[in-house]
Amino acid sequence: MTQHEFVIIGAGVSGLAAAQQLKKHGIRPLVLEARNRIGGRVLTDRSHGVVDFGAQYIHGTQAVTWEIVRDHHISIQEWFNETNPTTQHTHLFALDGQWLTDDKADKHGLGARMGEWCNHPTEQPANDISFDTYYRALVSTKTLAEVNDPAFILAQVRNERIEAADLTRLSAYHTFHERNISTSGWGNFKVPNGYDAIVNALAQDVDIWLNSPILQIDWDVNGAILHLPKAKIWARRIILTLPLSLLQLGVPAFNPPLPAAKVQAIQALAMGHVCKLVLWFKLAFWRDFTFLSTNGVIASWWPVLSSNLPTLMGYSGGPRAIQLSGLGTAAAIEQGLYELSQLFGDDVREQFSAGHLQDWSTDPWARGAYSYTPIGAGNAREHLAKNVENTLFFAGEAANINGHHATIHGAIERGRQAADEARQTG
Ligand SMILES: Cc1cc2nc3c(=O)[nH]c(=O)nc-3n(C[C@H](O)[C@H](O)[C@H](O)COP(=O)(O)OP(=O)(O)OC[C@H]3O[C@@H](n4cnc5c(N)ncnc54)[C@H](O)[C@@H]3O)c2cc1C
Repeated sequence: MTQHEFVIIGAGVSGLAAAQQLKKHGIRPLVLEARNRIGGRVLTDRSHGVVDFGAQYIHGTQAVTWEIVRDHHISIQEWFNETNPTTQHTHLFALDGQWLTDDKADKHGLGARMGEWCNHPTEQPANDISFDTYYRALVSTKTLAEVNDPAFILAQVRNERIEAADLTRLSAYHTFHERNISTSGWGNFKVPNGYDAIVNALAQDVDIWLNSPILQIDWDVNGAILHLPKAKIWARRIILTLPLSLLQLGVPAFNPPLPAAKVQAIQALAMGHVCKLVLWFKLAFWRDFTFLSTNGVIASWWPVLSSNLPTLMGYSGGPRAIQLSGLGTAAAIEQGLYELSQLFGDDVREQFSAGHLQDWSTDPWARGAYSYTPIGAGNAREHLAKNVENTLFFAGEAANINGHHATIHGAIERGRQAADEARQTG
């Protein structure tokens, strides 16, 4: 059995950032990755030019991701901020398969009202209630016209989409707090040559074993034995960056079981769902636009400009993503073509070339998209982030407690923190 001082489970951005952090202090950890590739929930496809099937944007001008971008001279382009109605980009709106018109010049125009609704609650609710309960209470104070406002409906779809969440479970209380303590700033930025440039930068000079799933961890105060399919490894300290969903499913198994408080924290949080539907066309049938907000099974669309073919990216989160996942690839593509045809007409089918459904919920090493805080979770993230007996250190996006969970920068930050904790307990 080989022996290591530090082992990191998972070669996503969190695990790789942890490895770089240890390296800064002269420690060379071993990274064990279940897949045959690095990157985890970052996956850049190059079958028809560059399309990111997983994470695609840097959210905010202050995200730590910028450190890697600058150090490695990665080219970045500004995208847009959909809740900022003053944006110069073209934000289109549709409801029930019909175009809506926005009066951008009016500060109470559709886009402006959607932005306002999206940023509700503006004050943290007094109790731990769901977004759904919060919105229902708000609706009772509004006129019928306000409640039937397409901006209100689209704002709810957007919250579902960006949080990847079921609004009946998503805590308005915690989510508002998390949004408030976030320091990553505003704006969205894309990586035209592919998000994997950031992953590759983080992986430089790191020892990584691919195809190395950890099936069981036998741990105590002195270290742990990691069971791989055909080998065992002993490590003094282990940094775990597995997605929350896998911890919830009991993969890997822990022997002895994790302490009750840790198990409770893991189960109290929720894994959200996202499906990306990529449709490639022979010719673009749309006039230039940046983003389309709608309420179909596919909740939003945007052109992917780094692709070699005219390409539309469909994105759904929460229950709509679960619905798409249930359809499977062929029917999901058909649904996408149907919803686009309602808006753009017959050109959609005539120009269609190829499609791909990226379903993170059925991916065996992700089992979902990213974590969210449901009602009743309390301070579960803090408990998740605590180490167990100075042997098991928890990282990954879900263990970020700065309000940056569910993001690349949050996963990187948490990876670095867990590496420092593991090193300092040495
Ligand atoms: C569709 C989608 C779009 C997104 N868009 C954005 C975006 O635009 N901007 C943004 O900031 N964030 C975005 N995110 C979120 C972001 O991708 C994640 O927060 C981040 O990638 C998580 O990194 P991680 O290292 O914590 O986890 P992961 O990337 O999941 O890495 C964990 C690794 O552990 C491996 N693993 C799992 N189990 C085992 C095991 N038993 N043994 C060994 N290895 C194992 C996995 O294969 C994986 O490689 C998006 C996510 C999705 C799904």
